[in-house]
Amino acid sequence: MERYELKLKNITKKYTDGDSENTVLNNVSINVKPGEFVAIVGPSGSGKSTFLSIAGALLSASNGEIMIGDTNLNKKSKKELADIRRNKIGFVFQSHQLIPYLTVIDQLKLIPKLSNNKNTKEVNEHANKLLKEFGLEHKLTKYPSKLSGGEKQRIAIARALMNNPDIILADEPTASLDGERGREVVSMIKDEIKKYNKAALMVTHDERILDLVDTIYRIENGNITLEMKN
Ligand code: ADP
Ligand code: MG
Repeated sequence: MERYELKLKNITKKYTDGDSENTVLNNVSINVKPGEFVAIVGPSGSGKSTFLSIAGALLSASNGEIMIGDTNLNKKSKKELADIRRNKIGFVFQSHQLIPYLTVIDQLKLIPKLSNNKNTKEVNEHANKLLKEFGLEHKLTKYPSKLSGGEKQRIAIARALMNNPDIILADEPTASLDGERGREVVSMIKDEIKKYNKAALMVTHDERILDLVDTIYRIENGNITLEMKN
């Protein structure tokens, strides 16, 4: 199956607040290849979430270009961007953002519903396969309130994979977890992209998990610099 490279080119982001202007990203560029796991590390307030939101077309840049394969996102309408987010991108956030009144299996089945996928058999099989892979098959009918932090984050990752995205974007996925649980969820992302040749971009301030990624960039003072490439 063909997969796509995520390319962010000369991205600048300025926030304006009254008269003052804050340049959070200053002309930064990175690419994430299919099968590559990239981490961007930096302290709180360094612009990590801003960058990831721009990469996922949740936020527009002040300047610069975002490409998925040969598709230039700058040229897309709001509706087309929503379709791209639903079909090509899987998001994992710092807090799991599960829906309190849905069971584990229904959290996953909601995603294809949003893209109008009515193939119930295929959806059920995919949801069950993912939950099994992630060791959650005995939790199918549980509600989020009955799950541990690590389990909730694993479900959030399974949910992000339900639309079979080409690109996985993760914003501090280990922030609410202890060291061991944190490694588990990052390993899950790693396994998925290696197995299916997807591209993953994770922003984090957690340095304990960096041995699991292929490429490390550091974000500081609006700049992103390459620190390590395997
Ligand atoms: P990180 O995720 O690394 O903690 P963020 O991307 O959330 O950093 O924020 C980077 C900087 O941009 C911070 O100084 C933050 O206060 C500022 N910022 C973030 N979002 C907005 C916004 N919507 N309006 C104005 N400033 C913002
Ligand atoms: Mg953040």
